[in-house]
Amino acid sequence: MTITHTLGFPRIGAQRELKQAVEAYWKGSSNEAELLATGKTLRARHWALQRDAGIDLIPVGDFAWYDQMLNMTALLGATPARFGFNAPLTLAQYFQLARGNEQQPAMEMTKWFDTNYHYLVPEFSNDTAFSLSSDWLFDEVREAQDAGINAKPVLIGPLTYLYLGKEKSAGLNRLDLLPKILPVYQQILSRLKAQGVEWVQIDEPILALDLPAAWLGKLSTTYAALASNAPKILLATYFESVVAHIELLQALPVAGLHIDIVRGPEQASAFARHYPENKILSVGIVDGRNIWRNNLAASLQILEGLRETLGERLWVAPSCSLLHVPVDLAQEVKLDKTIKSWLAFATQKLDEVVTLARGVQHGKASIAPQWAQSLKAGESRVYSPLIFKREVRQRVSALRAGDDQRSSPFAQRIAAQQAQLKLPAYPTTTIGSFPQTAEIRQARAAHKQGKLSDAAYQSAMQGEIRHAVQVQEKLGLDVLVHGEAERNDMVEYFGEQLQGFCFSELGWVQSYGSRCVKPPIIYGDIARPKAMTVEWSRYAQSLTDKPMKGMLTGPITILQWSFVRNDILRAEVAMQIALAIRDEVQDLERAGIRIIQIDEAALREGLPIKRRDWAHYLAWAVRAFRVATSAVADTTQIHTHMCYSEFSDILPAIAAMDADVITIETSRSDMELLDAFGAFNYPNDIGPGVYDIHSPRVPNAADMLHLMHKARAVIAPERLWINPDCGLKTRGWVEVEAALQNMVQVAHELRATA
Ligand code: GLN
Ligand code: ZN
Repeated sequence: MTITHTLGFPRIGAQRELKQAVEAYWKGSSNEAELLATGKTLRARHWALQRDAGIDLIPVGDFAWYDQMLNMTALLGATPARFGFNAPLTLAQYFQLARGNEQQPAMEMTKWFDTNYHYLVPEFSNDTAFSLSSDWLFDEVREAQDAGINAKPVLIGPLTYLYLGKEKSAGLNRLDLLPKILPVYQQILSRLKAQGVEWVQIDEPILALDLPAAWLGKLSTTYAALASNAPKILLATYFESVVAHIELLQALPVAGLHIDIVRGPEQASAFARHYPENKILSVGIVDGRNIWRNNLAASLQILEGLRETLGERLWVAPSCSLLHVPVDLAQEVKLDKTIKSWLAFATQKLDEVVTLARGVQHGKASIAPQWAQSLKAGESRVYSPLIFKREVRQRVSALRAGDDQRSSPFAQRIAAQQAQLKLPAYPTTTIGSFPQTAEIRQARAAHKQGKLSDAAYQSAMQGEIRHAVQVQEKLGLDVLVHGEAERNDMVEYFGEQLQGFCFSELGWVQSYGSRCVKPPIIYGDIARPKAMTVEWSRYAQSLTDKPMKGMLTGPITILQWSFVRNDILRAEVAMQIALAIRDEVQDLERAGIRIIQIDEAALREGLPIKRRDWAHYLAWAVRAFRVATSAVADTTQIHTHMCYSEFSDILPAIAAMDADVITIETSRSDMELLDAFGAFNYPNDIGPGVYDIHSPRVPNAADMLHLMHKARAVIAPERLWINPDCGLKTRGWVEVEAALQNMVQVAHELRATA
């Protein structure tokens, strides 16, 4: 029999029940017992769903109230000492770790590999101790077993857990904590064994990274230590190929390995070739990172080859946890029927896994209906007029070498721009959005539901723009923005107006804690039927003599925050978006907009997992940005914005984007990043964010002045701008005005001491 399993299932619920329950508990409108009951219902539902679909081994421990890494922290008793919590952690304390409390800021959050999921970063200090400190996992295993579920507990492995954490004591090397953490893992495993668990899945996704040798060197001894008194261990890797470590992995004393053959297809045959007789090989062949229906014919061909060598040692699974895809396509009643037939969400992927296992075991005839459907969907997609636009394809292939070049070098452009703009030294500006107030959101919702006419909506938004312009003029900012009141989200706003995009109604994916996102779906060639932002920008510019920045989202950010079609290269999709943005840029220029900002918030997070792939990615990503921005006259000033401070390692690519002005996040790192810019001799203008917009605190002028003095020490003063470190949409007007007033004052002081 060919065994099927999944590595994890979305926990939020098809209707985001977990989000609602957790938020109600936070607000105090429900109690702990009610929250616990919702969690239990959701777990039971998701286990039953998988069992009824025919999945053999069902993950337990993939559920978390906030985050799976935080669950491991609770289980291992590794809560940061600064909170002063004793084991066992209460639910209330668990949430304080995630969200902070009166005394302590929350644990840091960061992206889980190249996904849009964020985990809470473990904190290690010299006195970090580990001890088995939570019963949640064991309770859930019992709960599943009582419900007749064939439970396969899931743990994050010790190496991955340590690697993804951060040292908080000087001189500490977190790898040295391994001997301290292993006994707790051993305890966990022996307890699971005593509970009658046959298989346990231990995730070590860091094996797909460019892992330092010191870490790799610990793999064998670690798993030898764990396997001694444990259920059978399935060591799971995903998100990239681990073929580089094939011998090491095959020699491990574990009962099975899981590999992701969606991301690393070359692994399949490499692993099967001399696969040890005593191990199972689980192949992740159904994409856990994207929403396209599986091509059963292609998958079956691969699986048949594997089954020939592996026999019953072959297991079938999704490539990674299904956490990264929405729950259930069946709920989507408004989606175009044809497009819907091309898709599979988590629930549909269960059927795909089971179908593939049956097909490989009993032959194609045993899955005839599914086979026919898959074939039909595949064919309809290939030949669909929804997808293919000849003009778009031709435009992309007609691009020539110079089409991503501004006409003159920066020095010439900036002189031409300055002659027109006549900006003072240290020009002040903001990143784009102003507070998205309750009234704005209500107006948008009413408009969407048809309760507010187009005209009424437009005049409400124009009112917001007028207000934003008045405030900025009063404060004395130099380059104004219209405030983005009309935008729900910086990607969705454009996706809704571009052809080739569609939107699900309930396709939510957990981003962090209770926060979920609903990524647009890019299914076809991308075209811009008409201008997307010009009327708003034209209106805003008509209200002021100061330059008004046009505001667009860049091709890479739109790509990165969407589910992207898998039938052409991402680089080509990026170029299609770039051409649409290029047209918008030119339309803005024609409408008299002299400064245009193209946000690339997600450029860095698009970096591939393996460094060997970075250069290629950066080349096409930078080219896409340049294609989007290079059609304008020298006198038109191009800005870009990025909201992170870790790009010292990609500065050449940032410089190659050749934006006239870049605004970046630097305030939280006390301008450290600027040293890198200085050392690199970054040639164009820079606006280092002088205050952190994520905090409601109003920054004082002295702090900002201090930061600008640091900036001035490494960057030529005539290249410097002054701005916050990101958009202000999550803030309130009162703090925003106070903060910007201080910021403008800083500019005055700098000019006076120039
Ligand atoms: N222009 C956007 C804003 O101000 C940029 C947001 C971002 O970089 N995340 O909201
Ligand atoms: Zn930002």
